[in-house]
Amino acid sequence: MDCVFCKIASGEIPSTRVYEDDLCVAFKDLEPQAPVHLLIIPRAHIASVAEITPENSAIVAHIFEVAAKLAKENHLENGWRIVSNVGEDGGQSVKHMHFHLLGGRAMAWPPG
Ligand code: ADP
Repeated sequence: MDCVFCKIASGEIPSTRVYEDDLCVAFKDLEPQAPVHLLIIPRAHIASVAEITPENSAIVAHIFEVAAKLAKENHLENGWRIVSNVGEDGGQSVKHMHFHLLGGRAMAWPPG
């Protein structure tokens, strides 16, 4: 499958990895929107959060556990944001589910 994040997970495309385990990989976003901007992806190809079912939902909890650990490691005690864009209106450009972990500055709300 021609999926850039599957290729990052397999190592075929390079990335700056900050965490990996059997289920997920976390790496630095190529175009950071905050001092800390990481992406956390499942190794398995899931197109977006819209594809989450009772059968595969455990990966989301696992990714949130990893996010909390990475936020601590990056000293984001003052706060941070986790977001997953879904589909065209959600602003999703890469069709492999990913969670942006953003921190190191105050976030605006609502997002654009
Ligand atoms: P958007 O591109 O609008 O932010 P997404 O939510 O789909 O939409 O986010 C994809 C993210 O993946 C972007 O922040 C982009 O900078 C990042 N990205 C794309 N390709 C790579 C790559 N090869 N390595 C690291 N980050 C990447």
